[in-house]
Amino acid sequence: LKDSLIANRDQPAVSCDGTQVELLANINNLADAHSAETVGAGGIGLFRTEYLFLTHHDVPGEEEQYEYYRQIILDSPNKTVTIRTLDLGGDKTVPYLGRRNEPNPFMGWRSIRIFFDNPKLLVTQMRAILRAGRHGKVSMLFPMITTVEELRKLNKLVKETRSNLRREGVPFAEDVKTGVMVEVPAAAVCIEALLRETDFISIGSNDLIQYLVAADRDNPKVAHLCEPLSPAIFRVLHMVLEACQRTGTPVTLCGEMAGQPRSALVLFGMGLRRFSMSPAFVPTVKALLSSVTTAQAERFAHHVLQLSTGDEIRSYLSERLREIS
Ligand code: PEP
Ligand code: MG
Repeated sequence: LKDSLIANRDQPAVSCDGTQVELLANINNLADAHSAETVGAGGIGLFRTEYLFLTHHDVPGEEEQYEYYRQIILDSPNKTVTIRTLDLGGDKTVPYLGRRNEPNPFMGWRSIRIFFDNPKLLVTQMRAILRAGRHGKVSMLFPMITTVEELRKLNKLVKETRSNLRREGVPFAEDVKTGVMVEVPAAAVCIEALLRETDFISIGSNDLIQYLVAADRDNPKVAHLCEPLSPAIFRVLHMVLEACQRTGTPVTLCGEMAGQPRSALVLFGMGLRRFSMSPAFVPTVKALLSSVTTAQAERFAHHVLQLSTGDEIRSYLSERLREIS
């Protein structure tokens, strides 16, 4: 990281005309939490817990998870952390959950779907998160939600877990909010129904894009289709962000595009105020947003929605970027 960029770590994250934004960090481990602090991120918008599981030979127990989450919270900027429940499967597998040989792992038994078949695993993680929540401002995030029924099952499980902890006299945070990742197109299409039953949402644009265009984001032969700067993606994002604004639901976008200058401009113009990205991108996005007014970004977003090809969108945004920087 260039020193000149980290130089803005203590400056507020605001647009040129003073609209506040939150620039949060995506982290996988403690070292990333320290990077988030170094660049002056406002908190942790996405803590991917799977790395703890990937480095173990067996399921980590409740105490070990609790200790690990507590440490991450204590070492994070402002102690604000959104902890995502286990998101294994797809490209990340562990032997102890059973060997699988699926023809389409990204469309298969992954993420929250594994939990539904192993509720005890989920309850252990929920308990560790709710307990660790006492050490900061913590939220719990569920990945790969597809239907409202899934969300209802999870909400019921959280409720039961809380009342068990209470009954056992185990200290935990009562104010841990729960949220849904919007990264399956079905969830985006039915966003209104999900918003009625969740505290907040986080848009996982990496997966949302690959599922929208039906192209594996890690397969170089088709990865060119996973282009965030494209009409279909912006239409869907616009729809989801509008629904959140209408209902006053807090929303973060935590995919890679949150840290990419051209995308960040459009997202800001569409009303997004909470961006979560790899810590390394925070200084650049902070500098970028401080050089644009809210009205300018709104105009850019409005224009982008009228365009019909990715090429048009990319060159339009590159020009705007040159103008403001
Ligand atoms: C996403 O899908 O956009 C996301 C942030 O989650 P991950 O990259 O861990 O799948
Ligand atoms: Mg994802």
